[in-house]
Amino acid sequence: MSRWNILVIPKRLIRYVLFALALIAVLAVYHSYPLGIYTISLVNQEIIYDIMLDPGHGGIDPGAIGAGDIYEKHYVLDIVLQMADVLSSHGLKVGLTRDTDRDVSHLVSEGTRHRRDLLGRFKLMNQAHLGMSVHANATKDQGESGAIVFYMKDQYIDHIYAQIVLEELEKVQVLNEPRPLPRSTLLLPKAKPPVLLVEIGFMSNPTDLQKLGDPMFRTNVAHALCAGILRFMDWRDSEQSEFSH
Ligand SMILES: [Zn+2]
Repeated sequence: MSRWNILVIPKRLIRYVLFALALIAVLAVYHSYPLGIYTISLVNQEIIYDIMLDPGHGGIDPGAIGAGDIYEKHYVLDIVLQMADVLSSHGLKVGLTRDTDRDVSHLVSEGTRHRRDLLGRFKLMNQAHLGMSVHANATKDQGESGAIVFYMKDQYIDHIYAQIVLEELEKVQVLNEPRPLPRSTLLLPKAKPPVLLVEIGFMSNPTDLQKLGDPMFRTNVAHALCAGILRFMDWRDSEQSEFSH
């Protein structure tokens, strides 16, 4: 045994300790990310749908409530069911997070009902190549009105998707925000595929509420959102074929 060996052992030990510390750091970061544990279960999740449509809320959760006890959950479901028809007629495989008046909290076993519902929708979004969550807004300021399109911050593709959908939506509804809004705090846009969250108007604004109550307006919104989705898909296809040349 030489002195050399005595030096080698501590060196190796240090390496083990550093490796263990690095591993602990990585695991700590991974678990502090709120979706960490759910991301693991999504690794092998199959992509089944061309697009997943999510009518917000449902069941026990009415969403925004307009004057006269009018619920967001009913209007957004009506719009999304119409969208599903339009997109299916274009040959797309359409998934829905719900097609009746219920929530999807049964898909996840842990957390509060609200959290389980949101994560259930998130799980379903990850089974598609594209997604859209449709909502109607509400705020204390009755003067606020119009549509807002949210997309995942710093995602180039999502931004293009949002811009195209906003352009189509503007043809049938006044905009609250002239540009799509980047967000990093909303859960559904964090899903693997590009997912937009579209607020189609304010239930708290009398004019918007009146519009939302008109079945023709809801049909127009459904068609506009579909036009945006189809335009974006065309753009994405052309981009992909450019890359393959
Ligand atoms: Zn909502």
